[in-house]
Amino acid sequence: MTTKVLVVEDERDIARSLCYALEKEGFLTRIASDGQTAIAEGRAWRPDVVLLDLILPDIDGLSVCRSLRKESAAAIIMVTARTAEVDRVVGLEVGADDYVTKPFSIRELIARVRAVLRRMQDLEVAESALVSGDLELHGDSRKVFLQGRRVDLTLKEFELLKTLMNHKGRVLSREFLYETVWGEPFAVETRTLDVHIHSLREKIEKNPEAPVRIVTLRGVGYRFEG
Ligand code: CA
Repeated sequence: MTTKVLVVEDERDIARSLCYALEKEGFLTRIASDGQTAIAEGRAWRPDVVLLDLILPDIDGLSVCRSLRKESAAAIIMVTARTAEVDRVVGLEVGADDYVTKPFSIRELIARVRAVLRRMQDLEVAESALVSGDLELHGDSRKVFLQGRRVDLTLKEFELLKTLMNHKGRVLSREFLYETVWGEPFAVETRTLDVHIHSLREKIEKNPEAPVRIVTLRGVGYRFEG
């Protein structure tokens, strides 16, 4: 299967040379030269990887990242001229998987693309049995074990934990989690997801009041840490 890379970049020459290099490596590419197009392509084309320039003519790259994250599980690599640590942190908090600062070499960028894809594939391979420390989730038998002891989960709690573990270390928006587990559009006012996260924490966290496995990223979503 060909890997699809969406290049979000308003500088035509940079976008073209990136696509040229990526296609030479066997990737399928498309260019979005502004944020609106990026969000539309994320929805319609369903890329596997998004290279996202931070400074775009219409919408800020961080907002684009947030929007993409709501509806897609694509790996997002932020590309920017900014170097401040604060930008790096903000980028990762809105759900980017990696970060590259300009100027970068094409070779370095392709290495990063391959690295995020490898991380995603590792997660898919492990889907039937997900293990994280003393927590084990068996997809086939629908059983979860903590320190070798069976944990009783409802069907939705199980699906929620599976989705979180499947994307270990990655920020998942509340919209994405809800739509994946419940299979229906997310309504901002619904507390269903939060209630389930709460009960899941009661069952798998040592101290549910100070969770270390399922952490909250305020205003963004949740991340399974391990
Ligand atoms: Ca730019």
